[in-house]
Amino acid sequence: MVKLYNTLTRKKEVFKPISEGKVGLYTCGPTVYWYAHVGNFRSYIFADVLKRVLMYNGLEVKHIINVTDVGHLTSDADSGEDKLEASAARERKTASEISHFYFNAFQKDFEKLNLIEPFKWTWATEHIKEQIDMINILEKKGYTYKTSDGIYFDTSKFADYGMLSNKKICGLEAGASQHTPISTGVKRKIYLREKKNKTDFALWKFSGEPGERQQEWKSPWGLGFPGWHIECSAMSSKYLGKQFDIHTGGEDNMPIHHENEIAQSECAFGKKPWVKTWMHGAFLNIKGNKKMSKSAGKIMTISELERGGISPLAYRYFTYSAKYRKPLVWSDEAIKGAVDSYKRLKNIISGIENKGGMNKKYLKEFEERINDDLDMPGAVAVLWKLVRDEKAEGKIGTIKKMDQVFGLELLKEEVVDVPDDVQAIADERQKARDEKDWVKSDKLRDKLRGMGWAIKDRKEGYELGGDGNNIK
Ligand code: AMP
Ligand code: ZN
Repeated sequence: MVKLYNTLTRKKEVFKPISEGKVGLYTCGPTVYWYAHVGNFRSYIFADVLKRVLMYNGLEVKHIINVTDVGHLTSDADSGEDKLEASAARERKTASEISHFYFNAFQKDFEKLNLIEPFKWTWATEHIKEQIDMINILEKKGYTYKTSDGIYFDTSKFADYGMLSNKKICGLEAGASQHTPISTGVKRKIYLREKKNKTDFALWKFSGEPGERQQEWKSPWGLGFPGWHIECSAMSSKYLGKQFDIHTGGEDNMPIHHENEIAQSECAFGKKPWVKTWMHGAFLNIKGNKKMSKSAGKIMTISELERGGISPLAYRYFTYSAKYRKPLVWSDEAIKGAVDSYKRLKNIISGIENKGGMNKKYLKEFEERINDDLDMPGAVAVLWKLVRDEKAEGKIGTIKKMDQVFGLELLKEEVVDVPDDVQAIADERQKARDEKDWVKSDKLRDKLRGMGWAIKDRKEGYELGGDGNNIK
């Protein structure tokens, strides 16, 4: 029995899939105009843990993650530049070169964090027809209107608008929409006071001047490109059906993007609720409780972590120090603490002999934690209790099972590069052991320790360093 906090109902609920044994899961994915940072990955780790917990509970999960390669403007509403077009202009590349380059970088980091690949990565530009079809339905049902800048969704026609964030629609107040051409290089701003309501959003945007954009498509409304929000509704319904189980994203997606997804989907498909459970991950913040973001400039990528000697899995472990709905603050001390703790954990585990079996007591405690709205700090505490309990049985089998959810490769041996001088001392120590010279052997072990290396005696020979034993 898994309990999940549903943003829609503001309650922890017992999760029940629409089709028995199967879960449709959609995650708002990356906008591929630049490198993703460790904050972005906190959101994907949260989605991955959710997926692993559902799988652990015997459910079959069909997971879709979208790739935004058009239409996401610098503001989550409908103003500013298209991030992809702006990046292409800046780097003097095609939009497709940009999106593929940054997606490849993203996918490499995704793998390093041991995140399970989705059933499908759905690219916005590969689903233009589906998006146009959906806008057509909304138009036929009378939910849209046209401005000089595009086709807009009239939120005043959807009585439930704002249900996630408890936001009240502000009546027929005129809003502002802004169109900024990119490739001409001229920052021309045309403010259009044509939106009927502040909360109305673009479904389709017109191209503007010829040659202004690289990415544009023909549509019943003229040459243009889809607004950012429509892609998630069109693609999720294509692969998961017109009503599905769980939708995730970072907390910043909730008040605009997800409200808009709900409005257009419930109006087009007529299903209520369109998505049964909405889940939002809290931010990774930098000091001063500011969100780590590309625009704020202070970001850290997975590659930068690695260059600083922090493995991606140690970062994954670090994210478990807070529950997913609580902010987590990035600091050098906190991450260092997590790196040391993860190394120590793997080190201890590598020294545990596998005597077979399972430890039901600890496994039960662990399951209670993960099934209580993904309480990962609690689950990690159970894992530590287990590894430290000298009398506990079935440790290795239990750790292996827990790692199905942690995804920390707790039992994976690391290939460690052993320097020649360390190797020579280890060989000398082995010789001393063969000659039963225990005093010398112990001395040499201490010498190795002093150099930051641990050695373990095995039935045949010894093991040096492996599995994070390098305690340097
Ligand atoms: P983007 O590539 O900007 O569209 O963002 C991808 C995902 O990362 C979205 O779900 C965002 O909500 C999430 N996100 C962005 N910044 C942070 C952060 N500092 N901490 C956690 N999640 C974030
Ligand atoms: Zn989305």
